[in-house]
Amino acid sequence: MKKAYLGVDIGSISTKGVILDEDNNILASKYIWTEGNPIGAVKNLIGELEQQIDTSKIKIVSIGTTGSARKLIGVVLNASVVKNEITAHAIGTTSIYPDVRTIFEIGGQDSKIILIEDGIVVDYAMNTLCAAGTGSFLSSQAKRLGLEVEEFGELALKSKKPTNIAARCTVFAESDLVHKAQIGHKKEDIVAGLCKAVVTNYLNNVGKGKKIMAPIVFQGGVSKNVGVIKSFEDITGQKVLVDPNSHLMGAIGVAILARKSGQEIEFDFNIANIEFKTKGVECHKCANNCEIICIYRGKYLIDAWGNKCDNGAIPIKNH
Ligand code: SF4
Repeated sequence: MKKAYLGVDIGSISTKGVILDEDNNILASKYIWTEGNPIGAVKNLIGELEQQIDTSKIKIVSIGTTGSARKLIGVVLNASVVKNEITAHAIGTTSIYPDVRTIFEIGGQDSKIILIEDGIVVDYAMNTLCAAGTGSFLSSQAKRLGLEVEEFGELALKSKKPTNIAARCTVFAESDLVHKAQIGHKKEDIVAGLCKAVVTNYLNNVGKGKKIMAPIVFQGGVSKNVGVIKSFEDITGQKVLVDPNSHLMGAIGVAILARKSGQEIEFDFNIANIEFKTKGVECHKCANNCEIICIYRGKYLIDAWGNKCDNGAIPIKNH
């Protein structure tokens, strides 16, 4: 049996998974929507990954999880390693681009920047509040223009004179966009202006005060948009690299960390048939009324968190 490592990156929008061999080669990968149900999404993901490998020859010996639901999914999968997105993305990216100095990431609802020196994270910033520098901004504006967000990038490249869009916030951007369309700006110029606005917002928000050094690697859903890539290159004056597996970097990173941890676990692909439940209970032992999240595997409580002090700790038995 060959040893393999599973990495799962579970966010509020999408769930990504990879299986790596000992040399970081991707044996299987999948990207699916989380649809508000992280446990259901992971069950589907595992089923999809299983179909891509020969389980009589390959054995998952270690698992890592990252993303906003990493803790929950780490418990469900009995993960050896649970790491935040910054670490996971940095490890995944440096495994492919060892010299990378700056990682730009723009997802559907958030964005981040990671600065790296000699393969080590030296600074980072995240934005989860302002939509104006994210993919959801681009998709909502695309809809207004009657376009698919996939058509956006190519159209933007046709522009010779991007329209200036007042895009510091989505509300202003929407009314400005309607105004610019009414006074006769071409669609390709408006679209190029929106790509530029996303880049400007990103650089003024998470990129504020950060020294951006090449090589730059761009990832997250928006990295598939050639219009945004071009705007980044125009504004930074640097080449911006986009890996074909850029959407998998977090999962790759955490699978590598699982391998490096040396902690081997038992894993069964058949988790689809196991019932996992989460239940919130309030601790009333003081005025904080902490909500404690309990995770059950069948009838057994397998983990619980959310208590701000030990008085509210719920004992877990190992079954
Ligand atoms: S967990 Fe601790 S802080 Fe929270 S309500 Fe219970 S006693 Fe209070």
